[in-house]
Amino acid sequence: MYKPTEAFAQELDANDPFNQYKQEFYISEDHIYLDGNSLGLMSKRAEESLQQVMDTWKEEAIGGWMNSEHPWFYLSESLGERVAPLVGGKPEEVVVTGSTTTNLHQLVSTFYQPEGNRTKILADELNFPSDIYALQSQLNLHGYDPDEHLIQVGSRDGRTIDENDIIQAMTEDVALIVLPTVLYRSGQLLNIRKLTEAAHERGILIGFDGCHSVGAIPHNFHEDGVDFAYWCHYKYVNSGPGGVAGLFIHENHFDRTPGLTGWFGSDKDKQFDMEHTFTKAQDAGAFQIGTPHVFSAAPLIGSLALFEEVGIDAVREKSLQATAYFMYLVEHELSDFGFTIGNPREATRRGGHICLEHDAAASICKALKERDITPDFRAPNVIRLAPVAFYVSYHDIYRAVQILKDIMTNETYKQYQNERDVIA
Ligand SMILES: *Cc1c(COP(=O)(O)O)cnc(C)c1O
Repeated sequence: MYKPTEAFAQELDANDPFNQYKQEFYISEDHIYLDGNSLGLMSKRAEESLQQVMDTWKEEAIGGWMNSEHPWFYLSESLGERVAPLVGGKPEEVVVTGSTTTNLHQLVSTFYQPEGNRTKILADELNFPSDIYALQSQLNLHGYDPDEHLIQVGSRDGRTIDENDIIQAMTEDVALIVLPTVLYRSGQLLNIRKLTEAAHERGILIGFDGCHSVGAIPHNFHEDGVDFAYWCHYKYVNSGPGGVAGLFIHENHFDRTPGLTGWFGSDKDKQFDMEHTFTKAQDAGAFQIGTPHVFSAAPLIGSLALFEEVGIDAVREKSLQATAYFMYLVEHELSDFGFTIGNPREATRRGGHICLEHDAAASICKALKERDITPDFRAPNVIRLAPVAFYVSYHDIYRAVQILKDIMTNETYKQYQNERDVIA
C-alpha cells in the first residue's frame, strides 16, 4: 500500500491532520528532527506559557501562588488533571511533580514493603540505567543485597523481553515489579494489562515507567489496574529539558502514606496550618515532596493544549502510520547496506520510534547531523529515529531515508569516528 516515491510522501502529508502543527514548533523548514524520544522540541505555546509564568513572578511576586491564571499553589494538581487523559488515569490519580528518577524513589519507598519471604524486586535487563540504580539503592536502604534481591528478566534476542518470561519470574518471593511501558532502545511496547493481571493474581504490586510512551501512546493505567506509574514530559510531551515529571497512583492506594513525605504532600487546606503532624492529601498529590519547580512545569501548560486539540488517539494513529512508512522505506531503499530493524513490527508491540541497528551506527549518526538531520544514537550499534506526530512530516521521513541512502552509497559516514560523543 505504500509507494517509494516523493509524490506518495506528499500525498500522505496532504491528508495528514497534523500537517499544520509543524509551524507550532521551533524548527527550520529544512531540518528533520528525529530525536523527540530524547528531547521534544519547543512549541510556541510552551514558550508563551513559560513567559507568562515569568511575568507573573515579575508582576505579582509572592501573589503568584494564588493570584494568577495558573496559581502556582495548585499547578501540580491542575497539570496532573490535564495529563491524566494521556495515561488513562482519573484526574485525582495523576500529579505533575519531581523527576522520573525521584518519582521512582518515592514510589518504591511507598510500595516496596518486603515481608517474610517476599523481599525481591523484579525488573528487566534492558531497562534504562537510572531505574536500575534507583532499585539497587532502595534495596540497599532496606539492607538487602541487590545482587540477590533484584531480579532482572533476561532478553532472548538482546532487544525485546518476552512477557511470558516476565510472568514466569513472578515467583512467591517477589514483592514488587517495576517495568518500562516501552523499552528505550528497541521501542518494544509491553502488554501492560496482561502483566498487571498476572502480577495481581500472584499478589504482587506492579508499576511502570512511561518515559518512552507518554505523549506517544495512549494508556489505560486506571482500567488496567496498574498500581503506580511515573514518567517524564520532556520527551514526547515537549515540556523542555528537565521538565517536571508525572506520577500516577491508582485510587485503590490513596490510603497509603507516602514513603517520602514533605509539606507539599499535605492536604491543601491544612498545609499552612504549619502543624508538625502530617495530614496528607487524599489523592496522588500526597506524593509530592517540596515546593514545585514552577518554571520547569510552566512549559507544560502550553504544550498540553496541543494534545487537547488533537487527542492522544490521533497522535498514536499518526505515529503508527509514520513508523510503518519509515520501516517500509528503510527496507525498500536501504536493504543493501547492512541495517537491521530492531524494533518489533506489530502495531500492538511498537512504540513511537524505530530502531535501526548497524555496526557503524555512531559514524552514520554523525554524518546525518552534518546533513541537518537529528537522529539519536545508543551505543554500541543503535540508531533511534522518532517521527513525532506533531513535527515530522511524511516528506521529512522520505527525505531522511534518501539522505541516509546517499550517506551509505557514497560512504561519507566513514569520515567520522565510530564512537559516541559525551551526550548520545
Ligand atoms: C528518560 C528516562 C529516564 C530519565 O530519568 P530522569 O530522572 O528524568 O533523568 C529514566 N528512565 C527511563 C526509562 C527513561 O526513558
